Amino acid sequence: TATLIKGTVIREQILEEITAEVKQIKEKHGVVPGLVTILVGESPASISYVTLKIKTAHRVGFKEIQDNQSVDISEADLLALIDKYNKDESINGILVQLPLPKHIDEKKVLNAIDPDKDVDGFHPVNVGRLMIGGDEVKFPPCTPAGIQEMIVRAGVETSGAEVVVVGRSNIVGKPIANMMVQKGPGANSTVTIVHTRTKDLAAHCKRADILIVAAGVPDLVKPEWIKPGACVIDVGVNRVGEKISEKTGKKIAILKGDVDFDAAKEIAGSITPVPGGVGPMTITMLMLNTLKSLKFKLGIA
Ligand code: NAD
Repeated sequence: TATLIKGTVIREQILEEITAEVKQIKEKHGVVPGLVTILVGESPASISYVTLKIKTAHRVGFKEIQDNQSVDISEADLLALIDKYNKDESINGILVQLPLPKHIDEKKVLNAIDPDKDVDGFHPVNVGRLMIGGDEVKFPPCTPAGIQEMIVRAGVETSGAEVVVVGRSNIVGKPIANMMVQKGPGANSTVTIVHTRTKDLAAHCKRADILIVAAGVPDLVKPEWIKPGACVIDVGVNRVGEKISEKTGKKIAILKGDVDFDAAKEIAGSITPVPGGVGPMTITMLMLNTLKSLKFKLGIA
């Protein structure tokens, strides 16, 4: 059976590395990375995402500002708020929790963030930097960066490997494909992107030495689509039902990935579980980007 690539374990390693580096920078330069999270409204899902980001930021020793705004904040006021943090010297990362209410133009808001504080990596300037690759890249988007980090830390050879990416979204599919095709360590792959209009999904997947699946369709990838020994990264998070948590006694979602895990693990060489795979990596990489932002500013990156 396949080796499990556990995001929960890799997260701990990286957060410890970040904590140690934050301490060093604090001693030497007298500053710590500053992250502001801007949350508009009170959607329970958004609150839980932001809370986890804040908790993690505290854990690694960042300065953290939680800026909660009412759901009826105007677009102009939100843009003014972003401008304030763009100018704030103690802030290295600005995170606007999505989605925003309908009366606010999300694109306008994201584009207002200073690209050098855009730790989510969604600003067109950072998308462009990612496309150019190499030293141009400042803030790779967090989920793709987490995927690449997992592949590298699992010791999977990427150079010359056939990478097949299922999905072409701006937050996962397109950026991870772009990252794997670049020159350099953890990349140098031969990349194919497949999507809803692809003619023979199975045939493409079967060629993959590294199969990255971000479709949002439970059990889309069947075991017979997997090349024996392949590395399978399952990005999908699908709520397929509810259960009572043994720990808390509360109702929680039953999550499933895009890969038929139980069958796939008998064929793959390594595989990420859901939950506990790619999921924990995203916030971890957000912390890494925020630390990087301060290091760029100090000229020590
Ligand atoms: P999306 O809906 O924006 O994109 C899905 C892509 O998959 C589309 O490009 C579509 O063409 C392709 N696709 C859908 N169904 C397909 C099919 N049957 N065959 C082939 N291609 C198909 O989704 P997204 O934002 O990229 O997210 C994908 C999945 O990853 C979701 O389940 C999401 O919850 C999850 N996700 C997880 C994390 C994390 O763990 N941190 C982060 C982002 C997204």
